[in-house]
Amino acid sequence: MYQTSPKSQADLKFHNLKLVFDLVKREGPISRASLAKRTGLSPTSMTRIVNVLKRIGLISEHSVAQAGVAGRPSTLLEICADAAYCLCVDAMPNVSKVTLVDMATKQAVYRELVTVSGTSFETVADELNAMLGEMCRDAGITRDRIACCGMSISGHVLRNGYIAASSQMQWADIDGVGILERALDMPAIVENDCKAALLGEQYLLSCAGESTANMAYVKFGWAGVGSAAMVDGMLLRGSRNAAGEIGHFNSQLEGLSGDRCEFKGCFEHTISESAVIEHARSINPACASLAGVNEAIANGDERIIKLMNDICEYIAIAVSDISCAYNSDRIILSGNIITNLADCYQNVLRYVERRLTRSVQPNLQVCLSKMGTNASLYGMNCLAVEETIKRLLSNDTGF
Ligand SMILES: [Zn+2]
Repeated sequence: MYQTSPKSQADLKFHNLKLVFDLVKREGPISRASLAKRTGLSPTSMTRIVNVLKRIGLISEHSVAQAGVAGRPSTLLEICADAAYCLCVDAMPNVSKVTLVDMATKQAVYRELVTVSGTSFETVADELNAMLGEMCRDAGITRDRIACCGMSISGHVLRNGYIAASSQMQWADIDGVGILERALDMPAIVENDCKAALLGEQYLLSCAGESTANMAYVKFGWAGVGSAAMVDGMLLRGSRNAAGEIGHFNSQLEGLSGDRCEFKGCFEHTISESAVIEHARSINPACASLAGVNEAIANGDERIIKLMNDICEYIAIAVSDISCAYNSDRIILSGNIITNLADCYQNVLRYVERRLTRSVQPNLQVCLSKMGTNASLYGMNCLAVEETIKRLLSNDTGF
């Protein structure tokens, strides 16, 4: 589902299997013939994939007598949603979201975990472990049915799930995967929240039949600007898994002071939520929150209106930079300043329109996140289900 242009033979095999699984999940019960027609795979390939999925317990086949049709009953495939479950977490300052999902990516139980900034990662992992018992009870399943844990987190997460730095959670140099695996006694994956969110948005869009090969996601967070990009269907990662991030692209020589990062000219110092508020407050002390900024705009405070126009133009510069760097067709925006600041999104669209290079970006769509604050958790659900399928396959000698 994530790789529309898989590179290796193994990737291609998994890609096709995932394609069939997702289609059965979305449209099942469905016949093999319809699957072959929908995927373009040969009947031989389809038989092989269906047999593998049946062997690892992810789909089942039923004979169904067709009303009014004489002769052989047709066989239809559907997924075994309760074949396994995943524990997914979107770690955030104050309150983290925790969910148990089945193989249909359907939420069985939802919980919130208080994660005050500064709480150690080990403590959070132990609290998750304690919560998991209750969640299993509520879902009516035993703990051994949970195949893996997936956690998304803002900040710099390496490809292997090592947390290099998360300023929001005040975590640095942490073996996130190792700690989760030991505390929960199950395989774990840890992913950057924007990369997870992009995969979640991509999955929803592809379900709706939209093209998703070249897209990007930007989150204007409290202290930073996180982003992720997909090029030709591949999520960009880079040597330290930071490809696609534009938070430290420079927008000016010198921005606000503060502890966002040591170089003061980057987007984090201009268009993160805290930077916007700090800037506004330096002009009008009543602007201590986005609501205060909106009030100042409504009251006709010319200097704040000018500042907000500048902010929107900087956001448009960020969007334009992304589309020039990655040649995206679609850029999804999220975060409080985009959704809660008066007319911000409309103004950004206006400024983006002025900056487009027609030959490079003729079809660029800049849209708001459909899933809003749930995008990272949803993406994590998709990633954890995918990881579970890979683990089930690794035990299948015939794949
Ligand atoms: Zn920076």
